[in-house]
Amino acid sequence: MTEFNPAAWRAFSDAIGSQWVLTTETDRQSYFDHFAQDESLHAPAGAVAPANAEEVRAIVRIANQYRVPLWPISRGKNFGYGGSAPVMQGSVVLDMTRMKAIEVDRENGTVLVEPGVGFFDLYDHLQENDIPLWLSVPGNSWGSVAGNALDRGVGYTSYGDHAAQICGVEVVLPDGDLVRTGMGAMAGSPAWNLHHHGFGPSWDGMFCQSNFGIVTKLGLWLMPEPGAVAGYDFEFDQPDDLGWAIDTLMPLRKSGLIRQAPSIGNWLRSAAVMTRREEWTSNRGPLDESVVTAIRERFHIGWWSVQVRFYGDEEVVDASMRVLDRAFDNKPILSKLPARWKRGDPPEGSPMTGVPVSFPLANSNWHGGRGGHVGYSPVLPPSGDLAMDQFRRTYALYEKYGMDYHASFAMGERSLTNVNQLLYNKDDADMMGRVDGMFRELVADAKAHGYGEYRTHIDYMDLVAESFDFNDHALRRLNVKVKDALDPNGILAPGKSGIWPRGERP
Ligand SMILES: Cc1cc2nc3c(=O)[nH]c(=O)nc-3n(C[C@H](O)[C@H](O)[C@H](O)COP(=O)(O)OP(=O)(O)OC[C@H]3O[C@@H](n4cnc5c(N)ncnc54)[C@H](O)[C@@H]3O)c2cc1C
Repeated sequence: MTEFNPAAWRAFSDAIGSQWVLTTETDRQSYFDHFAQDESLHAPAGAVAPANAEEVRAIVRIANQYRVPLWPISRGKNFGYGGSAPVMQGSVVLDMTRMKAIEVDRENGTVLVEPGVGFFDLYDHLQENDIPLWLSVPGNSWGSVAGNALDRGVGYTSYGDHAAQICGVEVVLPDGDLVRTGMGAMAGSPAWNLHHHGFGPSWDGMFCQSNFGIVTKLGLWLMPEPGAVAGYDFEFDQPDDLGWAIDTLMPLRKSGLIRQAPSIGNWLRSAAVMTRREEWTSNRGPLDESVVTAIRERFHIGWWSVQVRFYGDEEVVDASMRVLDRAFDNKPILSKLPARWKRGDPPEGSPMTGVPVSFPLANSNWHGGRGGHVGYSPVLPPSGDLAMDQFRRTYALYEKYGMDYHASFAMGERSLTNVNQLLYNKDDADMMGRVDGMFRELVADAKAHGYGEYRTHIDYMDLVAESFDFNDHALRRLNVKVKDALDPNGILAPGKSGIWPRGERP
């Protein structure tokens, strides 16, 4: 762990007030990644919690003076990918949860948020002020609007590619400078959060999954409340239904008729939030088909399930439903449950209509004990055959390592993201001994097919960065050139996305 000059803590206290410099053992542990296989590997030295961008700048200047590595978090709820913990042990967490300003542009459908604004905060703000704009929220929505978008998180409405909705950011650079991107680079521009580009190079994307700057304000487009929402919850009976289901939906996705990313998930994705393994079997090995069938019957779920939704004017939604019905005509679906909401109805209450929820966290109880998971999410072309092949290979690896298959395929406009949550019980030493080997084999298997991860856990950032190897890792060379130019002292999030400052490179 980095040894700190106590003078650095005193300087932080002078800059932001000693009550916002958090160094006790209890403070430290509250920033550990409680889902991590070994929490100690990423233990921070403490945290500092600024109130505004000027205090962030002061912290950055002190960090440069004393060479203190900082790890910025918005709400720090990135569980499955690292929670609030830094890649580099001994870093100081820069906790921006106190920065909670929300500015909504009601007329144009945008919001400018500070990092501490959670999905629940923004939802409440829109409801309380009767603003007819909808969020897109992740399945577990306890995180922050900004942090999730900066990690390229996903939701389930038409605005579900959160990084794609970013429009203009304010950033503190590693040297303490304060920059606004896009049209915001012009002082007082009213178009900052309305137009994706400015003059010259575009920088917004530079601050996603990177360690090039600390975002202190983030502009985001919101969905104007639609006149209606309609769709189906489809259930499919057989593992092999995955392929044709994807090939049926993808043409509608590519044509733009379906504008959200339907995510087809296996039975355990649905079941793990409703029940625990021990209710069904005491066998610690692979689950019997009879157990799987009993769980599916109790909760009326298919081997695979997918929710498809259309948003917009009622006539358009109704016409879209007719096209969807035609596409699934004569297809061997197990069941389809219609879903319908009309403007004026009470909120429908799920992420499909942008309402934040936190019950999916219950899936960490599947195995009992101190539950957790690590995310494995390779991206592949949008073909049913390739998805089936990916499913079979990955399933075989779950079996080899004695783990329960928990996965989904999210349909982007031109790609599939195979989101896996490797659920585990941290109190089961035997199980935990298998997780790391399995994860590494999964990444190697994806790489062998040319598939890279869209996002990864802090334990595996170097491993995943290594797999992006075109022209002898030219991307890494570009990243470190930028890193060295912007952050010569290497104070910002060393190791994030496999980007290390000079002197720290593995
Ligand atoms: C059961 C379960 C289900 C989940 N489902 C989903 C899902 O459907 N979709 C999804 O996307 N996620 C999902 N997650 C993962 C996670 O909970 C969310 O993505 C959550 O929103 C991330 O936490 P956060 O928003 O507080 O971001 P943070 O933890 O604050 O940050 C995320 C990352 O961005 C960086 N960062 C944060 N703020 C800044 C900043 N201001 N400047 C620069 N860098 C910054 C951080 O260093 C970190 O690497 C799920 C998790 C669980 C446990």
